[in-house]
Amino acid sequence: MSKSKFQTMGQQFGRRSWAEPWKIKMVEPISMITAEERLKACQDAGYNTFLMRSEDVYIDLLTDSGTSAMSDRQWAGIMMGDEAYAGSRNFYNLEAAIQKYYGYKYVVPTHQGRGAEHLISQATITKGDYIPGNMYFTTTRLHQELAGGIFVDVIIDEAHDPIDQHPFKGNVDLDKMAALVDKVGAEKIPYVSLAGTVNMAGGQPVSMANVKALRAFCDKHSIRIYLDATRMYENAFFIQEREDEYADKSIAEILFEFCSYTDAAWMSAKKDNLVNIGGWLAVNQAEVAEKARNMVVVYEGLHTYGGMAGRDMEALAIGIAEGVEDDHVASRVRQVRYLGKLLLDWDIPIMEPVGGHAIFVDAKRFYNHIPQDQFPAQTLAAQLYLDSGVRSMERGVVSAGRDPQTGDHRYPALELTRLTIPRRVYTQAHMDVVAESIKAVYDAREQTKGLKMVYEPEYLRFFQARFEPI
Ligand SMILES: *Cc1c(COP(=O)(O)O)cnc(C)c1O
Repeated sequence: MSKSKFQTMGQQFGRRSWAEPWKIKMVEPISMITAEERLKACQDAGYNTFLMRSEDVYIDLLTDSGTSAMSDRQWAGIMMGDEAYAGSRNFYNLEAAIQKYYGYKYVVPTHQGRGAEHLISQATITKGDYIPGNMYFTTTRLHQELAGGIFVDVIIDEAHDPIDQHPFKGNVDLDKMAALVDKVGAEKIPYVSLAGTVNMAGGQPVSMANVKALRAFCDKHSIRIYLDATRMYENAFFIQEREDEYADKSIAEILFEFCSYTDAAWMSAKKDNLVNIGGWLAVNQAEVAEKARNMVVVYEGLHTYGGMAGRDMEALAIGIAEGVEDDHVASRVRQVRYLGKLLLDWDIPIMEPVGGHAIFVDAKRFYNHIPQDQFPAQTLAAQLYLDSGVRSMERGVVSAGRDPQTGDHRYPALELTRLTIPRRVYTQAHMDVVAESIKAVYDAREQTKGLKMVYEPEYLRFFQARFEPI
């Protein structure tokens, strides 16, 4: 649990490179299909990278969700699965790991993050409630809306500006919180939905000072704080790097303190926790835990497995402890930054500062001739695939969906193409190939035309929508 050795070595001896705190024991072959095959694959997928076959992809930066490489220890844990229907010992190991590192009292396992979002939304939201949050996340907001809640964005304005260099662009704007309380009354706000490193804002962190101030505000108004802990390890890294009082604290210590200002958390364990599937809900209030346990048996599975196999819970318990190690988190964030620096050196417009899990290319500036209703970020994802078989994804107008009241597209300020880096999977050489391909697509930008949507599903349309070139 100590600070990164590289940091202290660097201070002593001048230049020191960092390297991954692991070596490769098993490899999975990958290859690039031909340009004609890529065109056919792209057409068959309706120009939507979510509809492509993984075998047609060379370097897969679609998501960091469930794509991590597990360690030899986690694989050994898989062999220790206790597949009892009830009371598996792996559940108790998982519960102990969450209590130790995150500090919450009651743990409810779920099949993945959205299972936990469903439970907590149904357990705590009444129709007509308002749910302030530091920017929306797709599944989180949908579950809040399905439970009858109305999402209100209370992130600081800087988060919507892709070049603003604010060190904590995930922060909550307390004036926006106060305005909402004045307008609707605190009794209409069951909780603040706080995300550590804001995915949709480019993986931007929340400062410890901000969560402390938010806690004080919420205590005054009896509002709870529920944390989307999906990428809190990365958030803790930014606190260590950017808030002076935390420079000598470990990621684990920072994580624990941050969580202590919140009342509950939900987790997509497929991210920070280094497993391929899994999630959990952890809460401090007994009555919320009881409601969630009543529902978990309906929607997920018994409260001691929640949709996971015993072996999966064991790998998760081990992943929780491995993922929080300082050297691991530092090398992960630095690999993301390595790719970001290559792109910035070539003047390719990306979201700054570079966040924890992904590079977000600013498609509005990249394709400044393509209007937002012709899906510039979706276009860029398709062009990148056509150039090199690198898979990315859209985070712009397609992901934002339609306004439930008016039925119109929601036009977010940020129109981004996300290159998400899986944990412990690719090398710097892969990052070089990705950067060079983006450069080639950038150089050809003026000849590129946008897309039109030819099929649109009702929910979370970005997953299954289909497009054609204009
Ligand atoms: C992935 C994610 C979720 C949803 O989790 P799943 O495991 O995909 O269901 C929720 N919040 C954030 C910030 C995420 O990145």
